Amino acid sequence: MTTELAPRPIEGEYRIVRPLVSKEAALAAWQEYQDLTRAILRATDFQTFREGGREGRFVKKSGWRRLATHYGISLEMADERLGHEHDPRICARVRFPEQMREDRDCGCPVVFARYVVKAIAPNGRGVTAIGLCSTGEKNRRFVRQDHDIATTAYTRAANRAISDMIGAGEISAEEVRATGEFDGISLEERAAIKETWARAPQERRTAATTWLRANGFSGETTSALFSDFARRAGDVQVADLIGQLAGVTADFDPDAILEEAEATA
Ligand SMILES: [Zn+2]
Repeated sequence: MTTELAPRPIEGEYRIVRPLVSKEAALAAWQEYQDLTRAILRATDFQTFREGGREGRFVKKSGWRRLATHYGISLEMADERLGHEHDPRICARVRFPEQMREDRDCGCPVVFARYVVKAIAPNGRGVTAIGLCSTGEKNRRFVRQDHDIATTAYTRAANRAISDMIGAGEISAEEVRATGEFDGISLEERAAIKETWARAPQERRTAATTWLRANGFSGETTSALFSDFARRAGDVQVADLIGQLAGVTADFDPDAILEEAEATA
């Protein structure tokens, strides 16, 4: 005589994973996200890239921060890794191996950065995202290398964490070029540079072109020099250049400079 085996009654184990909301509620939430995006994001929160007849418009850092504020999302850095190109002549780890802990900055140039950022919603839900940046990125020239690489990696991680948290799943303006989808700076950044250039006195224009050449951008003519910059610079360098042309040199906020320049362009 055979007895039928009853499934082991383990709570939850064989239950199908089901959505937490109805399709109506999901659609309403998506509609709400789109309405909110339209209502709170300004023109300066987007960047448009154009290349070979293709065009893409992406939300940039300031836009993701604005959305995070309205959703009550806070950000937390979960991990930071900086990769250095060790130079034995200046490296504190090579010279003073006893005193240097593994996580201390040894003074060598940063060539790679990886950040893990966690977005936390008011209901306690958390989403982590990774952001990377390195000197190996195709067609990129970094100016203040240590700062630029770390900042870019952190921005990418933070944007991604917010985007994933609110379910937008969108790629951010700061990530677009790393994917290879578009080369070069955005149309808004080009317009902002043009506008600031037009208003800058001759001595600042000269100082800015000297600065560009000193930082590895090249071109016989000014226009060739700016073409090279437009192809290889990133958002941090754009803010640097605009700051130079506008005569802002010490301790400035790149986002504020860019927003101001774009608003008047
Ligand atoms: Zn070192």
